[in-house]
Amino acid sequence: MPTNMSREEMRSLPMLQQPTYPDLNAVDRVVDQIETLPPLVFAGEADDLREKLADVARGRAFLLQGGDCAESFETVTADNIKGKLMVQLSMAVVLTYAAQVPVVKVGRIAGQYAKPRSKDTETRGDVTLPSYRGDAINGFAFDAEARVHDPSRLVRIYNASAATLNLVRAFVKGGFADLRGVHTWNRDFVGNSQVEQEYEELAAEIDRALAFMVACGVDDRALSEIDFYASHEALLLEYERALTRVDSRSQKLYGTSGHMLWIGERTRQLDGAHVELLSRVQNPLGIKLGPTTTPEQAIALADKLDPDHVPGRITFITRMGAGKVRDVLPDVVSGVEATGRKVAWVCDPMHGNTFEAVNGYKTRAFVDVVEEVNGFFDVHDQLGTWPGGIHVELTGDDVTECVGGATQLSESDLATRYETVCDPRLNRNQSLELAFTVATRLRE
Ligand code: PEP
Ligand code: MN
Repeated sequence: MPTNMSREEMRSLPMLQQPTYPDLNAVDRVVDQIETLPPLVFAGEADDLREKLADVARGRAFLLQGGDCAESFETVTADNIKGKLMVQLSMAVVLTYAAQVPVVKVGRIAGQYAKPRSKDTETRGDVTLPSYRGDAINGFAFDAEARVHDPSRLVRIYNASAATLNLVRAFVKGGFADLRGVHTWNRDFVGNSQVEQEYEELAAEIDRALAFMVACGVDDRALSEIDFYASHEALLLEYERALTRVDSRSQKLYGTSGHMLWIGERTRQLDGAHVELLSRVQNPLGIKLGPTTTPEQAIALADKLDPDHVPGRITFITRMGAGKVRDVLPDVVSGVEATGRKVAWVCDPMHGNTFEAVNGYKTRAFVDVVEEVNGFFDVHDQLGTWPGGIHVELTGDDVTECVGGATQLSESDLATRYETVCDPRLNRNQSLELAFTVATRLRE
């Protein structure tokens, strides 16, 4: 049975995208402390999610994974968390109705505080400072003090994640997730005159279906309690290792910082510390696959992380870009499928489609997002494999970070309400529009 790595063993492995802390003794003190803190999630919950993802891999469920690119301490508020949940639950209603299979709901939430960066430094005018790497590592403000890598932030993200999870758990079991209430956001959205007639019809069908269920006496709990899981990129090795724990029932290891952990496109080296750490835990794992991925690389990652072919263990989150998905994805999918392995295939239509607007904002175009999703569905249709879900960066607020969509946000609108600390997110209406778009593909 795998055991947890020691600090020394982990630190001796190749590792990318890690903080450079000025005081290594301070890091050890923080790690000592985190090792004594209780787990944030429980082994049984991670097992339940893995079983649900096994259904995604078998074509019997659909995954909706979404949330901020990066959470920040400032946004750990009831309203913000409620908004993110509400938009995902609204999307899930539409997707469930369209797919006619369960929708597995997973947030990029309660732990998504560390970011890989393509550049180590950021320059404004004649000042160059370390890049912002997420609230887990340094501050967003462009000043030298804020940008220092500070290990005590690891305890703060633990606490922020605990507070977030606590509220999420209360919301989804306490009546907030009631299907009838959740669907009101969809109704508001389709009430907008720019939205296609077809979406209005779909929302009305869902209304009738909900009324029918209530009339049939479907019990209140079935309509109002859901399972919602937490996921994040397991980027920060010191933090993730300190929260890797032995489950007292099974004696097996679990990452207890979140239910599902994923490995990013930049840190999935086969001999690296990220892959080694996650190969030892039982959680369901996501693996991001970008446009340069070869079938051999995907197979080698699956073999290393899931040698026993455990159902639901591997979710490949492909993020090829709208222009490449149709060329690159078929070989990767067919290569993996030819090994006989069953994985969940999920589309991240965000990370391959980022560009800089003329006014300097990092943005994404809604048409590109939809185009990548369409390419993903087309490829799976052609191969006879199941398009198992979507992974999106979104928020429940009316931000202006991505261009396009029914309300036709333009590049000059970006300045109005650009709040992300990292990548641009779909706002509430763009998220719901994406759900309706995916729904039409699922109904074909
Ligand atoms: C992300 O999901 O925010 C991210 C950095 O993705 P990727 O690893 O796919 O670039
Ligand atoms: Mn991102």
